[in-house]
Amino acid sequence: MPAAGVELRSEQLAFLAGLQHDRATDPRIGELLSVLEGSDLVSDPTSVPAVNVREMRYDYERDTRMPRALAAELARTTALAHQEWVAARQDADFTRFRPWLDRIVSLKRNEAEAIGYTREPYDALLDEHEPGMTTADIAMLFTSIREDLVPLVADLRDAEGQHSDGILHRDFPVDRQRVLAEGVAASLGFDRGAGRFDTSAHPFCSGIGPGDCRITLRFRAHDLSEGLFGVLHETGHALYDQGLDPAHHGTPMGEPASLGIHESQSRLWENLVGRSAAFWEYLSPRLRDLFHETLPDANALELFRAANRVGASANRVRADQVTYNLHVIIRFEIERGLIAGDLAAGDVPAAWNEGYRRYLGITPDDDAAGCLQDMHWASGLIGYFPTYTLGDVFAAQLFAAASSELGDLEGLMRRGDFRPLLDWLRRTVHRQGRRYRGAELVQRATGRPPDPRLLTSALRQKFGELYGL
Ligand code: ZN
Repeated sequence: MPAAGVELRSEQLAFLAGLQHDRATDPRIGELLSVLEGSDLVSDPTSVPAVNVREMRYDYERDTRMPRALAAELARTTALAHQEWVAARQDADFTRFRPWLDRIVSLKRNEAEAIGYTREPYDALLDEHEPGMTTADIAMLFTSIREDLVPLVADLRDAEGQHSDGILHRDFPVDRQRVLAEGVAASLGFDRGAGRFDTSAHPFCSGIGPGDCRITLRFRAHDLSEGLFGVLHETGHALYDQGLDPAHHGTPMGEPASLGIHESQSRLWENLVGRSAAFWEYLSPRLRDLFHETLPDANALELFRAANRVGASANRVRADQVTYNLHVIIRFEIERGLIAGDLAAGDVPAAWNEGYRRYLGITPDDDAAGCLQDMHWASGLIGYFPTYTLGDVFAAQLFAAASSELGDLEGLMRRGDFRPLLDWLRRTVHRQGRRYRGAELVQRATGRPPDPRLLTSALRQKFGELYGL
């Protein structure tokens, strides 16, 4: 969109945010909910009507506590800030973005005060994305993950040169990569009659509603992993959206449980399926057919090793399975400090680089490659990053439970039969809508509360074997 139109756009977005606030906080909604809450309809708390009433009340309370003027101001400021962030990142000039970050943090602190919290303001922001989780819960999980991963990354650093990923960096015509991506999505269970694929600068998945779920991808001619892991990840999101019960569309029972649960689905298909040895055994003959000039020698083991090359880098989106969560933990620690008032916007580049030095042993080349790389803060998304790692924790646990229930999951994947796994996820996760909070949903599906050590011990085992630790 034209840069010169940003002022007008920000006014339009503020106006729309105000209208949306008016509709969502109509007192009539509160009256109707009170009637329902006093009726027999909700006597069984896990019944469909009871869940819908409970969750609509939850949304209504949050919306009504948010002042209308603040909702409009956030929409206006983030529209302007986004454009400034793009320019600041282009010039690797944090000072240009600093006043906007400062303004957004102060608006988000006002939001937290308005919404309310028991222990720290960050709780109120986190709750929007991962209802039921507190900052203290996240901090405890993340400390445990960090303590396991930092030494693993250090161990792998010494072993890093062992496997080359050169095989994934040959010449891969983009039109054939697109055929591969769409074929992989379909083989995992993506319903092509109820969705579509497009190309964009940043891959994403949009669940519009029943029968309409859209994936965007990006491809690089000399890097098979960009498009392939992109489609595996976004297909994971899409399978969740396509698996929501259409009979409940428009109500909480037809909505995803949380961002952490959403991300558990994308990370499960991307990493636990897509980066497994079994998957590459399934895929390698298909790759040989599709890229017969490039990969006449495609060998499943070599491809599997290439897909699991580990190396600390400054970039979160391209990070491998082991280092990824440390990128997320660094962001969580910084944004928690910003909202608590322990850290000022101007301190972010130094805190960022210090986090990368301590946890990953590297320093980004500049702020564009460092603290300006993600769009989240410019968009007012604070309390969102933790859901990425939460997704990984949930995914590890769901996958382990599915494996033990389905028996030979590896064998199924090797044969390209992903249906039993998808059916298991449909039943335990997708069809549950917002019946349970994220952690409870995982506990019910797996028989135990979310445990981060399941994630880190699986990583140590897989990469220990791969790199001979
Ligand atoms: Zn995702």
